[in-house]
Amino acid sequence: MNKRSLGSKERRPRSVSVLGSTGSIGCNTVSILENQRDQYQVIALTARSNVKVLVEQALRLKPRMVALSEERLYKELKQELSGSGIQVGAGVDAVIEAAQLSADWVMAGIVGTAGLLPTLSAVRNGAIVALANKECLVSAGDLLTKDVAEFGAKLLPVDSEHNGIFQVFDFDHPAAVEKIVLTASGGPFRCFTKDEMMRVTPEQAVLHPNWNMGQKISVDCATMMNKGLETIEAFHLFPIEKRQIEIVIHPQSVVHSMVSYCDGSMLAQLGTPDMRIPIAFTLAWPERVSVPVARLDLAEIGKLTFESPCEVSFPALRLAREALELGGVAPAVMNAANEIAVQGFLDRRIGFLDIIKIVDRTLCKYPTLRAKTIEEICEVDSESRRLAEEFMVSS
Ligand code: NAD
Ligand code: MG
Repeated sequence: MNKRSLGSKERRPRSVSVLGSTGSIGCNTVSILENQRDQYQVIALTARSNVKVLVEQALRLKPRMVALSEERLYKELKQELSGSGIQVGAGVDAVIEAAQLSADWVMAGIVGTAGLLPTLSAVRNGAIVALANKECLVSAGDLLTKDVAEFGAKLLPVDSEHNGIFQVFDFDHPAAVEKIVLTASGGPFRCFTKDEMMRVTPEQAVLHPNWNMGQKISVDCATMMNKGLETIEAFHLFPIEKRQIEIVIHPQSVVHSMVSYCDGSMLAQLGTPDMRIPIAFTLAWPERVSVPVARLDLAEIGKLTFESPCEVSFPALRLAREALELGGVAPAVMNAANEIAVQGFLDRRIGFLDIIKIVDRTLCKYPTLRAKTIEEICEVDSESRRLAEEFMVSS
């Protein structure tokens, strides 16, 4: 699907679905849709358990269907939306059913591999998929991108770094690209010693210095596993080799990422740290829309700084690179173990430094296999979660 054929064949309003509509990405997406009501027809909204926000969004946006993955909430949701004419579902299958409804554009905004099957449904419908849910690309990148090609879907990265790269990557001349450089803020503990990190609390870890995000990704930023996941995400999104992906620490989060070319040029995409920018880019693609976000004032910022990342302080970076090199199911194992360990830390069952130790142990224990189907990836995901849970109990 190229830009021209898509732009000319599609009729307005664009039909859209938002998976994970009650989360940080989801709410930002909904706010953009509300600003441009006449441009979009909302097909489906989904969430896990937040009945209140989902109902408010549904009454304002009038989707065809809403679904919660928690089955026990069906009655409550049904009652809240009675008389609205909106179809209601609850349970994992209901979320997939909502994701299967035909829509031109789908926001994959569920967190974790819980988003894999719904995202895959949108891909198999041939939709434009705005991909925020990086975990599903980390776990099942080969299979997902194969389906994107087979079903004529289009993956547009929402992650700010990848969205920035997408905007400056010369897809017509990929051989001219020398490397891509992912920027990383370094998270809230960039300057912490090991001793200080040992004592950090969930409250400290979820406070990102520049971005306001969901809890899981905020902890991932603090361990820098987020940048590890993004390294693997970049490998699947762009026509590059593993060795062509670099990371640089940039605490201000203004330069969202860069592409280096063989003639010595380096192209970067800059903006204020506001996820509405990449979300709106994907929503309007291949055009652009006006978004009411703060404009970048470089003179006011004055100084942008860059430094090399430290793999000793942040072993997640090395681990993710190893998983990418190992290939097969290793990234899926790493991701699943990380989801369990992050939740364990948020629930105060383990300390901050235990998160990556548990991921490391799970990755070492798991045999390096290849997965040929999504069902096999789902099995690996469950088995790795079980192993990580065991390590967590014994740690
Ligand atoms: P969040 O926790 O704020 O929201 C997650 C959404 O997914 C919610 O709507 C929740 O109800 C839904 N959800 C959670 N578990 C579910 C389940 N088991 N089944 C169905 N739905 C479920 O998370 P977020 O910060 O919005 O992040 C969403 C995704 O986007 C993540 O993969 C994250 O890495 C990625 N991302 C987020 C940001 C950001 O700024 N928040 C930036 C880049 C990438
Ligand atoms: Mg990012």
